[in-house]
Amino acid sequence: MKITIDTLEKYLLNRYDGWTNEQGLFLKLVEEIGEVAEVINMRAGSKQSNGSDLDTELGTELADMIHYIVAIAAINHIDLTTIMLAKDKQASAKYHHDINLETFIMNKEK
Ligand SMILES: [Mg+2]
Repeated sequence: MKITIDTLEKYLLNRYDGWTNEQGLFLKLVEEIGEVAEVINMRAGSKQSNGSDLDTELGTELADMIHYIVAIAAINHIDLTTIMLAKDKQASAKYHHDINLETFIMNKEK
């Protein structure tokens, strides 16, 4: 099963709209960023590991970050897909990349 940003936004809008605000979600995001930092420190050996699978732990914490990032966009009715495509197109032109995200997706769909 694939998850699209659009679907995740609709799901998280349903979950959070009217229940919390962007400040609350942002604080949760910061908490999750700290958890990603902790796992990265364990992977580097600069913090003792608890013995768990650090690849799985990293994936879990990154997923938590994505959850709160998309939730902040969702409750503000921000179309992240459109913005991400526009932003990538701008950056691709600025840094002279061979391909941008929109073209990459269109080529993949052929
Ligand atoms: Mg977490």
